[in-house]
Amino acid sequence: MGSLGLPVNPETTTFDDLAQVYAFCAHWEEHRHDLPYEIDGIVVKVDDLASREVLGTTARAPRWAIAYKLPPEERTTMLRDIQVSVGRTGRATPFAVLEPVFVGGSTVGMATLHNEDQVAIKDVRPGDTVVVRKAGDVIPEVVGPVLDVRPEGLEPWVFPTVCPSCGEPLVRAEGEVDHRCVNTDCPARRLARISHFVSRGAMDIEGLGERQIQLFLDLGLITDAADVYALDLDALRELDGYGERAVANLAAAIEASKARPLAEPAVRTQHRAPGSHRCAAAGRPTPLAGLDPFREPRGDGRHRRYRAGDRPVGARLLRRCLQQRLGRQARGGRRDH
Ligand SMILES: [Zn+2]
Repeated sequence: MGSLGLPVNPETTTFDDLAQVYAFCAHWEEHRHDLPYEIDGIVVKVDDLASREVLGTTARAPRWAIAYKLPPEERTTMLRDIQVSVGRTGRATPFAVLEPVFVGGSTVGMATLHNEDQVAIKDVRPGDTVVVRKAGDVIPEVVGPVLDVRPEGLEPWVFPTVCPSCGEPLVRAEGEVDHRCVNTDCPARRLARISHFVSRGAMDIEGLGERQIQLFLDLGLITDAADVYALDLDALRELDGYGERAVANLAAAIEASKARPLAEPAVRTQHRAPGSHRCAAAGRPTPLAGLDPFREPRGDGRHRRYRAGDRPVGARLLRRCLQQRLGRQARGGRRDH
């Protein structure tokens, strides 16, 4: 390939026996940081086209080439703190706040610790020196503490008893590993809920990220996901960084999202329960724009009407959300458009 003028890695070498191949891999495992770029392994190939023919391939990969994966790079750093973040469903996830450290090609300052049991198993305590690596070379992970250098008198970390966002008690149900904030009005949950609603897998409203949503919440421009569709564009124009074009783009993105299918978007805004597959099973994807909040498509072109006591899985939660909104408007709600 080099003779054809194509760029070839200058470290590429051929060997006559396997022992030399192993030695080559061991060499680069030792010297991976001498290269001006990050590597996660070495590709070993049979250097003979006829032999490649004979070896052939499995269903998934050729038998004449294999990747020698280097073990994930590990670094030590200081665990400054363990904090808890609260998500859309109220799940409270502990995460490590680290002294930033460069590992596996990027700087890592945070890493999830998953749940109370994981923190206990790893026995990491704020103030510890900890080993950090990238799981699968992508997701930062705290491996464990370096016990030899643990300062004396360091107390084990205790899961907080109240939600860091709303101050309501955190609940760990029997048989579950997760703590949850069960306050549906929790600001952290509200933010995560709306972020999820407008995210790519759901309504996919471009230009409406977590930062913007937090800003709109703080300003009282929105209080729930439905409010996104009644956003006061004039109020937006008065904000820093919202020029005419940004407002027009956001308005267009919101308008475009009305044509998204029903299945994933709305239904998961309020609840842990039904997933998109159940929602899809509950009804043909229906563009939100044509949705009657009191009826649900059945898949055969007809609709099912809700009656008191019904518990349809698909659009129930969206319906509740829309009804609340309609009710609010009927009562002379705050913002009628
Ligand atoms: Zn809360």
